[in-house]
Amino acid sequence: MRTAIFPGSFDPFTIGHKDIADRALKIFDSLVIGVGFNINKPGNSEMVAERVKTIESIFGDDDRVKVEAYSGLTVDFARRYGAAFIVRGLREVKDFEYERNLADTNAEISDIETVFLTARPELGFVSSSMVRELKANGYDVARFLPK
Ligand code: ADP
Repeated sequence: MRTAIFPGSFDPFTIGHKDIADRALKIFDSLVIGVGFNINKPGNSEMVAERVKTIESIFGDDDRVKVEAYSGLTVDFARRYGAAFIVRGLREVKDFEYERNLADTNAEISDIETVFLTARPELGFVSSSMVRELKANGYDVARFLPK
């Protein structure tokens, strides 16, 4: 049984994230989507609980997928779920530089392997920050969010 975690802020969970999760499910038997949050920021736990519920509803009753909030180290979260793999998405060179550093650090402190999936070309421009910005300015962002 190969379990991977897919960690992120998912603020919000976009069609880009959904595509990475769906593709990861072709490689792994089960996927734990980890919504990371900073325990020291007030109001954060409520917001994250809401985000977890939304993501759960996106995956419906697919019992290969679990959605959990976590704070602290991602490798500790992975260990809690017996996951030997972390899945991350890569859109552009900027992602790569940041992600390689994270992956190297996690490899240094654990045996957990990071697996990268490149963004589908047509989804490579989709980011949570772009969706937040559009929404804040009154744009209907439904097309960037999974059904
Ligand atoms: P974080 O704050 O940890 O970077 P995000 O929620 O922004 O979390 O992203 C989680 C993961 O999803 C990251 O690996 C990011 O590169 C990837 N990702 C985000 N948007 C896309 C997309 N459109 N296509 C592919 N991967 C993506």
